[in-house]
Amino acid sequence: MAHDFTLARERMVKDQLAARGIRDERVLQAMGKIPRHLFIDEALAGEAYDDHPVPIGENQTISQPYIVALMTEALELRGNENTLELGTGSGYQTAILAELSSMVYTIERIESLLANARKILVQLEYDNIVFKAFDGTMGWKEYAPFDTIIVTAGAPSLPKPLIDQLADNGRMIIPVGDRYSQELIKIVRNGKRLEQKSLGGCRFVNLIGIHGWQD
Ligand code: SAM
Repeated sequence: MAHDFTLARERMVKDQLAARGIRDERVLQAMGKIPRHLFIDEALAGEAYDDHPVPIGENQTISQPYIVALMTEALELRGNENTLELGTGSGYQTAILAELSSMVYTIERIESLLANARKILVQLEYDNIVFKAFDGTMGWKEYAPFDTIIVTAGAPSLPKPLIDQLADNGRMIIPVGDRYSQELIKIVRNGKRLEQKSLGGCRFVNLIGIHGWQD
């Protein structure tokens, strides 16, 4: 059966995002525009706009649309940010960041996922993304400091290199908890002070690395 992806995307924005309190117009517009189904295997593309995560291979997932919107909104992007993303995965969140910030530095530890994400993002003609296959828990010193950092895998604690690479007035969103459930934490740097608040419970795949889970 042929899918009407445009209609499904409009419904996603209205029923899953706006109706649940996502207010940032730029986030709603970006998610209303980006073809999420292209970031998912064709066999599962019919589920692309459904209200749940979808497998992307290598035991990883593309996150639920609402969680993507919630995390992106919390970054408070205005368009001039240097953004670091950990966990490129399918590349869908990367596309949103590329729409809403000035430069995106994205790191993925699984090379095949990164290669696939890069292919789609190049096809979609994004030219403000730099890619790296690596352990993102080390951050990316060469391009630091970052105005915004987003981590899309669950960490056991806050990775120190990421804190060190967060700019003054910078925002970081990261799930922290045990291997099975986490709290979505927002950190705002105010000089040497870090303000921290919880955005609620969540469930992500594990952040694996030197400053993450050892696996
Ligand atoms: N944001 C992605 C998207 O839109 O498809 C979903 C990301 S998925 C929930 C989490 C990703 O984090 C996985 O692809 C996983 O391989 C990656 N990951 C886990 N530990 C990592 C690390 N230390 N550095 C970079 N990527 C990591």
